[in-house]
This record gives sequence, C-alpha cells and structure tokens, in this order.
Amino acid sequence: MTDVTRRSFLATAAAGAAAGSLPAPTFAIRRLRAPVAVASGNGLQAVQIAVQRMGEGWRPVDAAVAGVSVVEDDPEDDSVGLGGLPNEEGVVELDACVMDGPSGLAGAVAALQNIKNPAQVALKVMRHTDHVLLVGEGALRFARAYGFVEQNLLTERSRKKWLEWRERRSAVDKWVAPDENGEHGREWFDQYKHKTGTIHLGAVAPNGDVGSCTTTSGLAFKIPGRVGDSPLIGCGNYCDNEVGTGGATGRGEACILINGGSFVVQQMALGKSPTDACLEAAKRVARTTKVRRLLDAKGRPAFQVQFYATDKNGRIGAAALYAGRYALCDENGPRHADFASLYDEPVK
Ligand code: ASP
Repeated sequence: MTDVTRRSFLATAAAGAAAGSLPAPTFAIRRLRAPVAVASGNGLQAVQIAVQRMGEGWRPVDAAVAGVSVVEDDPEDDSVGLGGLPNEEGVVELDACVMDGPSGLAGAVAALQNIKNPAQVALKVMRHTDHVLLVGEGALRFARAYGFVEQNLLTERSRKKWLEWRERRSAVDKWVAPDENGEHGREWFDQYKHKTGTIHLGAVAPNGDVGSCTTTSGLAFKIPGRVGDSPLIGCGNYCDNEVGTGGATGRGEACILINGGSFVVQQMALGKSPTDACLEAAKRVARTTKVRRLLDAKGRPAFQVQFYATDKNGRIGAAALYAGRYALCDENGPRHADFASLYDEPVK
C-alpha cells in the first residue's frame, strides 16, 4: 500500500471506528515532519545541505550524496576525496557507498583512484548496474564511462604527510607478524592509528523515507588494496526504509567485524532508540576486541569507532567508544552534539 492509500485507508478506518463499525487502527497515522540528517563531526555543512535538499523534495540518498560531496571536494579534509591521505605507496584510494531506503538498493566503489567524488560514482553503480560493489580498475573504468573526470588527488599537504610517515614507517606501518596477534603482542604504537576520518551521513525525509552514504580515503597509509568498512553495505553504512539508518566511522576493521551499520539498524528494529542502538554497537566492539595489540593498558580498545543512527520517525542518535562530537541537523538547524560514549575521555 502506498503512503497515500495507506493514509486514506487509515482515515476511513478511523471514521468507521468512530461510527462503531470498524476497530480503531492500532498504529499511528504518519505525519509529515521536518527532514533530519546525522553525520560525523566533519559533516556540519553536509547535514545542512542534505536537510535543505530534502526540504526541496530530494530523495534522502541524493540529498546525502549532495551533502558529502562538499567534504569530498575540500582539499583541507585529509580523510575524504581530494586531499585524502594516501596508501603506503603514496596513492589515494577512495571508498564509498550509498543506500536508498525506498528501493532497498545500494551502490558502492572501493579502492577507486583519481576520482574525487566516489559517493557520486556509488550512486551511478546503484542506478545503472545490477551490482552493488565495483572495485579498483573496474570502478575507475566505470566512473570514466559516466563522465567523471580523473585528477591527481594527492595534494601538496597530503604528499608531505605521506613522506613524513614513510621516513618513520618502521614503527608505524600496518603490517603485523602472525605471533603479534597472540598473547605476546608487541607494543602497538602507531602515531597514525587514529588518523582516520571519513564522513557518514544518514538522512530521513519528511515522509519517513531514508537514505544514507559513507565516503572516505580510508585508513591513512594503508596497505594498497585495503578496503575498510565505508564501502561495505551493512558495515560503514546501512538503511532499512521500515526502520532507519545506521553508519560508522573510525577503525573500519572493528566495524566490519561486527557488521556495524546493519547491527545498529537491527537494534532499532528490536526497539532500541537510535542512541541506545549505537551504544550497543560500541559495546559489541569492546566485547569482541581481544588481541593485545589492539587493547590499551586498561584492556579497552586502543582505537575509536563512532556509530550514527536515525530512525524513521526522525529521531537522531550517535555513540562512540570514546568521547567526541558528531553533526546533526533538524528543524533547529545544523549543530554539533556530544556522542554517548562507553568511556568518558577522548581516545588517546
Ligand atoms: N572507517 C574508515 C576506514 O576504516 C576510516 C575512518 O572512518 O576514519 O576506512
């Protein structure tokens, strides 16, 4: 039943119930309300744009991509798109995915080089193919065919940071000897281990339709070909039009291992509020992180993961392992808010 027919059915049912001929409906009539969006802390402008676009009637997934494109275009944000920090060979590889509530479809690209707006390419994958995920050279050829312009994404700023990392890499790379996963894990110091960024954006339109998007340059100085959670549907991003949106930023490996985005949405489907759903995901990360190299002296995860959620009714929530801030926009405008967090302090 479409919204309109469902609404008129409910109106008829309510009138009938008043006349004593039909039972009263047991579920509420959905009202039109203000669009809302949630995003990572770097998404203040993005949530504002997404909400504006939904107010103009845009589909949430398109509004989400319009919002994150501004961050992808920003050379100063070294976690996304142009100026994103490169892999260990100095090559920028971008990951992104989109998901559309009304159709239940998704599109994604991973390890995409030379195209600054991977979220827009992911939208094309969703709309013009029967696939969900394209990677590497195939994703690049696909983007080229749809007219995306290739450019060098390594800015002077990110190139210098890469060179600086390379000069010290022996202590801070991403390689692990198998015995380091055991009880005698090495002291796992990595000055760049929190050098992650990414933008996730979840959006709810006035009619309750949802859409979402995550885009990133991934973990700084990753092993070439490494794919994080951001382009994986159900991990860095997920939505269900009957429930809401769920997404993540931070250590992608941890989010993949708990299927974070879909876990958050499942928690809401089971009745949790958006914030509590995100907190459950953070707890699950803490509970399932076991190897010593990933734990601090107190036995807590030595990294940050942030989760974001919106539900169909326009409620917004976010939670993280450690303290921090996220961005949201509703009828009161764009602003930052504090994460609910498992641990009070910021990540070290
Ligand atoms: N989740 C991203 C990744 O692992 C990085 C981040 O969000 O900071 O690729």
